[in-house]
Amino acid sequence: MVTAPEPDCWLHLDVEVRISHIEGRGLFALAPIPAGTPVSRMGGTLATGAQLQAAFDAAALDPAHPYIDTYTVDDDLHLILPPRRPNGYGNHSCDPNLWWIDAYTQAARHDIAPGDELTNDYATSTAIPEFRMACACGSPLCRRTITGNDWQRPDLQRRYADHWTPGLLKRIRGSSTPTAAQP
Ligand SMILES: [Zn+2]
Repeated sequence: MVTAPEPDCWLHLDVEVRISHIEGRGLFALAPIPAGTPVSRMGGTLATGAQLQAAFDAAALDPAHPYIDTYTVDDDLHLILPPRRPNGYGNHSCDPNLWWIDAYTQAARHDIAPGDELTNDYATSTAIPEFRMACACGSPLCRRTITGNDWQRPDLQRRYADHWTPGLLKRIRGSSTPTAAQP
């Protein structure tokens, strides 16, 4: 079981939200950020899959309801961020410069230069099998389609080592097997 999240998010002071060439708005570095520096810590409320689905259903019925920023923390456990936190603007890249160092924190994967967009690979925090997203991140490593099953890819498992959220890391290490479809 992971520790409880902070009630709200924290973002490195040298990060701001700008228009992104990847998608909508994104997070950008204002100053050099050395490899290993914690950059974004997520806070909010933990929800089971059923609770998350109920939140999505409620949002779909309410045009004024904010978009739900969420990711998979552990088995059947998702974090829902408070509405409209800048941390939620972190875009996906198939060759990201941030990665997870614990259940809630993304740190610099390598040295980041001023002006660089801060990105993470959604595969490292998504365990919803139905999740699919088209990608045009521009990286030579772009997978074109990101899915909730990408954690199963050996190339990604090698590339990110232990930099996944705890639920994904458990699956990768084989201590938690997702329910398999029976023939
Ligand atoms: Zn991509």
